[in-house]
Amino acid sequence: MTLTNLAQHAKRIIAKHVLRHTITEEEIIPEHDLRKASEEYLANRKKLIIDEQIPCWMCGTKENLEAHHWFEWAEWKNEDPKAASDILARLNFHGYGHLAAEAPIDGADHIANLCVLCVRDHRGKGFGIHNTTGPVWWARKAAQAGVAVVQEVK
Ligand SMILES: [Zn+2]
Repeated sequence: MTLTNLAQHAKRIIAKHVLRHTITEEEIIPEHDLRKASEEYLANRKKLIIDEQIPCWMCGTKENLEAHHWFEWAEWKNEDPKAASDILARLNFHGYGHLAAEAPIDGADHIANLCVLCVRDHRGKGFGIHNTTGPVWWARKAAQAGVAVVQEVK
């Protein structure tokens, strides 16, 4: 590498910095019944969090746990059950993906569609899956030990 190339290469290195994302989206929610936790949801939530003591999928804590719908409850009428099931079978969050592979799931409350997350990683500002972008969410999950991908939103 010549000195000129070295100088050009050096200019391509961008110092570590914080990139603030401000995103506005307008989600179109199909008509739905008044939301309430179904018997299926409550039973599957209990199975994952209480019976099997599955920790937060993102951070591993066993505190303040909730059951997240990967394919949103309110969006379920917009989903193709076969397409959603194919994805859930591949992602297999808590070992129930095989159920989605065997037959298309029949609703958002199916256990293969639920993922245990702590309150922070579920709904937390700048951290929760409902409040961060997909690329940042996945970068956090695969980050090297000790590496912070996001910081508290100021
Ligand atoms: Zn967590």
